[in-house]
Amino acid sequence: MGSAATCLGTGRSVAMSDLSIPVAEGPHGNPVPIEEAERNVDYYVCPECGEFLTPRIGPKRQYFAHKRGVLDDTDCSLSSRADIEEMVDELRTSDIEESEQERTIRIYIGEQYDGRIECFGILPSLEWQHVPPNKDVDALLDALDITTAGVTNPPVPSNFHPSESETIVPLDPTADEYVIDIEGPDTLSTITGHWSVDGLASGDLFVGDQSRARRHRSNRQIKIGEWVYLVMAHAPATLPDVVGTYDVGSFTVLAFPARESTEELLQKHGEGLTTDDYGFDADVILPASVHPTIEAPTYGAPNEGVLVGITPSEGIDPIFEVVSVPKRANDTVDIEPTGPGNPRFYPTRIPTDGSRRVSIHQRNSNRHRLIHLHPESDTDTDTIGEPTATESRTIGLEFNTGDETAVLSPLDGETTFRVDEDFNPHLLPTNLSYVGPDGLEIEITATFVEDASLGPTLTRFTTNLAEFGSEIAHWVEQGCARVRFEFGGVGAVRIEFPQPALAVSPDSESNRSGSVSSS
Ligand SMILES: [Zn+2]
Repeated sequence: MGSAATCLGTGRSVAMSDLSIPVAEGPHGNPVPIEEAERNVDYYVCPECGEFLTPRIGPKRQYFAHKRGVLDDTDCSLSSRADIEEMVDELRTSDIEESEQERTIRIYIGEQYDGRIECFGILPSLEWQHVPPNKDVDALLDALDITTAGVTNPPVPSNFHPSESETIVPLDPTADEYVIDIEGPDTLSTITGHWSVDGLASGDLFVGDQSRARRHRSNRQIKIGEWVYLVMAHAPATLPDVVGTYDVGSFTVLAFPARESTEELLQKHGEGLTTDDYGFDADVILPASVHPTIEAPTYGAPNEGVLVGITPSEGIDPIFEVVSVPKRANDTVDIEPTGPGNPRFYPTRIPTDGSRRVSIHQRNSNRHRLIHLHPESDTDTDTIGEPTATESRTIGLEFNTGDETAVLSPLDGETTFRVDEDFNPHLLPTNLSYVGPDGLEIEITATFVEDASLGPTLTRFTTNLAEFGSEIAHWVEQGCARVRFEFGGVGAVRIEFPQPALAVSPDSESNRSGSVSSS
């Protein structure tokens, strides 16, 4: 970005109208990132002073600016780079974190196996980092005093233990209000307090999937295929076929997926709920067996690799950030753009000690998708991570050397596998295979020895590695010493093939990397 727009001598308003504001308020009061602003429209306003902003969309810089002259008469608190940074940072706080700060119980609807609808609340459990090292967590929790209203099965202190991913509290759908009062020692201040939320009301909207749909009280974007539960005093006389109805307390709850046939219903009763401007998708791709609702915890073996795929709406190429929940200073990770509408990936791991929650956040927007990772206990992990589950739980290459199968995963860092001197390249088409999510683009770069006719390097792209086995075999016969496989921005692995020339002039880069042992 350019220089900070401080007030330098001549004309404060000139400096301020030059200030690059990356987000404005749209016509519905929603934050609009400059990347999504339309040209030549006059409805964006300043989030601070409410005056009109002009989107300036040039080839090099895009930003919103106050209209010239406006600031001669109006004071705007967005008067420095630091003020703007602060506004951008406020947007990093996810809706889930905000509700927890305010001690609002998040409430959900889920369909039961027996066809009933249940209503439940979710509270965070304690995090290990908030347990003082010299304290016994069970003794601390025993000091909690919990009283509730509107709760059918009140939580007990052990439900908040850090080994629990979250605390689920069943709610009475007929209650006017839900209250969970938690009193206890100061060290447990992340969970103590007066938690509450209003009961069900006509017009309430729950969005998610059929096991976990969260109530939203403000404008929210919805994705085609997501489930909507609409609470009504009386069901409309006619409904599209796809809509199911449930009696919940004195209400009728309409249950339906967002799609073309229910668009009209959404427009009529959806209170600003829209399938436009969804923004982006974030999905846990690995482990592949996870719960379809992104908000539900992803369980795995401690330290197991996790891959989150993030896909922006068509035509936009924003910067995404990984923000801790709760937000901590200076630990935001940027995920760089990969081109408009293209997926990008965030590799991470299941934590070893209790839950880790992060929000995938589109910078300059209020859009957040929660990723909640939680280690399974030792007894649970016996059933996961078995060899049979490899395909759905990792990404990379499987390389069968005849004696055994090596798994080369970019989630382990950029490792290099060296094949034996007597390896027969003709076996490559059958011995080398891809494991991981379908459709991931692999960039294959071959590096040849000095005097090879094909070199020095060749690059190919494919989403079907099986088609490339014989080509790689051909490269190896023509003096290819190394092939690097880059997995759609997730990371890369390398395979080295012995070539006579390589032995004479070792490549310093490949010597640096660790060799994957074959035991
Ligand atoms: Zn302003």
